[in-house]
Amino acid sequence: MNFQLTQEQEMLVEAVRSFVAKELLPHEEAVDRADAVSPELAAQIRGKAIAAGFYAFNMPEEVGGGGLDYLSQALIERELSKVSWALHVFVARPSKILMACKDEQINDYLLPCVQGEKIDCFALTEPGAGSDANAIKTRAVRQGDDFVINGSKHFISHAGHADFAIVFAVTDTYEHNGRKRNAVTALLVDRGTPGMTIRRGPKCVSNRGYHTYELFFDDCRVPASKVLGEVGKGWEVANAWLTAGRVMVAANCVGQAQRALDLSLQWAADRKQFGQAIGSYQGVSFKLADMATQIRAAEMLTLHTAWKMDQGSMTDGEAGMAKLFASEVLGKVADEAVQIFGGMGLMDEGPVERIWRNARIERIWEGTSEIQRHIIARELLRPLLR
Ligand SMILES: Cc1cc2nc3c(=O)[nH]c(=O)nc-3n(C[C@H](O)[C@H](O)[C@H](O)COP(=O)(O)OP(=O)(O)OC[C@H]3O[C@@H](n4cnc5c(N)ncnc54)[C@H](O)[C@@H]3O)c2cc1C
Repeated sequence: MNFQLTQEQEMLVEAVRSFVAKELLPHEEAVDRADAVSPELAAQIRGKAIAAGFYAFNMPEEVGGGGLDYLSQALIERELSKVSWALHVFVARPSKILMACKDEQINDYLLPCVQGEKIDCFALTEPGAGSDANAIKTRAVRQGDDFVINGSKHFISHAGHADFAIVFAVTDTYEHNGRKRNAVTALLVDRGTPGMTIRRGPKCVSNRGYHTYELFFDDCRVPASKVLGEVGKGWEVANAWLTAGRVMVAANCVGQAQRALDLSLQWAADRKQFGQAIGSYQGVSFKLADMATQIRAAEMLTLHTAWKMDQGSMTDGEAGMAKLFASEVLGKVADEAVQIFGGMGLMDEGPVERIWRNARIERIWEGTSEIQRHIIARELLRPLLR
């Protein structure tokens, strides 16, 4: 395997790095304190990301996206995540499952999302169905040419900014190995559709300014033309994208961890106690060595997994390994960064406390660490168990 990045990839990394430093990082502290991104700032970031050619970099070229391979996408994610999600979310990566759009959905949803004219949100999780996504209770019942949706969702990121939600609802049930299973359908539901209410969810300690919402459906009627993919095949449209998303989360974790290490190195060199830089004491320098080693391992695993995805040989378990390992490394590195900063690491005047708070969500969303371990173990044992 050739570990050398192409010249194009090197240039891309440099361009995103300077975009983050110039357009995003200067706003991070204020956004975190206000727990909000103003519409003007959101529009400004979106406009600059479009002008720089970063917007929708995850989407194929044939629909106007960046057309990048997964390895290049992971490199961009690594750089973007050196600032809070609250800001880099506006360098939008539309849900890849919108590639399942057909007929008028292409002009109504897919292309506007790629062009920065519309924003989507992904509405799967419910109060009673988190890790066990197949247990969702939201139902969509066919009535003539329409589906009528009833139920609720929570933890739906960015729904306050979204023009439409990709809503997962049960449309049927079937028997599988003697157990009743839900047939799930993905539906495109526009903001303002009668019967759908959106409400801000509880405050989250991670990524202040990046909010989750609750969605309520009360006889919400959408035409059957709003089915994304096929009726009853919601998991088919979602799964490929969710698995790739885990590798991108891993890349986000590597970027955040690297930022924590860079800050810690500088602090360890500058901060003096007992007449010397604290980095000269092994109690601190060995922490730095462990942090750097763990980050390097997480980065190698993540980039290798992205490369495998490009080769078409990545398995679900491998995506799970990258997400599991990188998010757990980030947790350890962020915690050690606080330790190296001492009391200042917990004060809201510096970025370390933010990185520490923001790191916590990464072991939970896009499948918890326990669920990743389950996926990995199932794949390892599958050939051996009968
Ligand atoms: C900030 C934020 C943003 C989010 N954004 C979105 C979004 O945009 N769209 C969306 O659809 N969802 C979103 N989510 C939901 C997210 O994907 C879920 O929170 C996650 O899948 C875990 O579900 P849960 O929180 O209900 O935890 P639970 O599933 O209730 O799990 C609780 C604990 O039990 C453990 N556990 C559960 N089952 C098992 C098992 N079989 N074996 C071992 N341990 C187990 C879990 O690992 C966890 O530690 C978001 C969540 C947050 C917090």
